[in-house]
Amino acid sequence: MKNRRSFLKATGLVAASTAFAPSTLWSATHPQNKKLGVALVGLGYYSTDLLGPALQMTQHCELRGIVTGSPEKIPVWQEKYGIKDTNIYNYDNFDQIANNKDIDVVYVVLPPSMHAEYTIRAAKAGKHVWCEKPMAPTVAECESMIKACKDNNVKLAIGYRCQHDPNIQAYMKAAKEKTFGKVKMITSAAGYFDGRTDHWKQNKALGGGVMGDMGVYALQGARLATGEEPISVLAQTFTTRPEIYHEVEETAMFQLEFPSGARASCHTSFGINMNYLNINYEKGWIRMKPHSSYNGNNGEMSNGTIINFPIENQQATQMDDDALSLINGTDLLVPGEEGLRDIRVVEAVYKSAKNNELIKI
Ligand code: NAD
Repeated sequence: MKNRRSFLKATGLVAASTAFAPSTLWSATHPQNKKLGVALVGLGYYSTDLLGPALQMTQHCELRGIVTGSPEKIPVWQEKYGIKDTNIYNYDNFDQIANNKDIDVVYVVLPPSMHAEYTIRAAKAGKHVWCEKPMAPTVAECESMIKACKDNNVKLAIGYRCQHDPNIQAYMKAAKEKTFGKVKMITSAAGYFDGRTDHWKQNKALGGGVMGDMGVYALQGARLATGEEPISVLAQTFTTRPEIYHEVEETAMFQLEFPSGARASCHTSFGINMNYLNINYEKGWIRMKPHSSYNGNNGEMSNGTIINFPIENQQATQMDDDALSLINGTDLLVPGEEGLRDIRVVEAVYKSAKNNELIKI
């Protein structure tokens, strides 16, 4: 069995974790600032429990602003993170952020139905945008977000933290290098038991439904494992708790066909704890379990290689990667176009489930 160091070396991932090289581009325009200033929009669970704390660990960006519709949260965040009065906005005066030199990046952490509006407003304010997954409920919204960022000459990244995790990058690399030959069949699953009864995840108008929320992780597993885009989808959605999930689905199962002939069977649910990715190739296999958790994603290859890279904090790694791309003027690892690719499939899943037919993409 190879040890981790030799695996790192063999796969070239040591070189992938390159040191920070300051950019002439960004440092010329921001001589006094060593880090990018980030404003979080929406101070719910993910901002409070994950992104706020992670921004205390980042080297290339820092939390400088908040945008919230809940005034009672302001003193709590100010006390915890020392945020200046002048860097606090609500949803009405948010556009004034255009005049705030402290803020380089707006991170949209709202329910999915609000992602397009706040991304477009941030872009018009001249700020780079990081937007949480799912990018938006519809392909049309995703396209308008990409266009607004292009038109305003700002960059758009989607918060797919897993793509910044070296454990996920390990099987992406196997796909690229065809380490075990062609992919034959994939099974992937992402779900948890959500006991809430009145949350946006159960509300259609706010962009709820398990497919966009957890289904994209099962979908990403299949897309990243093949390195291809699916050409057809066959899906079913259902619920075991119709009293809660009457507007949106609690569970979705979808089969994907890829151009190479690879097939994937993907499962997602708000009623079942499950998190894995099994990739079967012509000449071997990779198993990941868990596959899309915040930490401890790990797995094994059929040649005995263990996938278990340490990662101190996924969200901090993601935000530092994205900050460095902005600073250095290099391509983002997960741009808006990648969020759009998933939503194309999400739309096809819904169409297939509704019409009970195979949808060609
Ligand atoms: P949440 O419900 O805990 O927080 C949502 C925030 O939006 C709250 O502060 C709420 O006050 C605010 N809000 C403003 N208008 C609202 C409205 N009309 N209805 C409901 N809330 C409104 O949700 P969350 O779990 O923090 O999720 C926010 C985003 O982050 C979603 O896109 C979600 O998919 C994403 N997320 C990503 C990850 C990840 O691992 N990348 C994890 C959790 C959540």
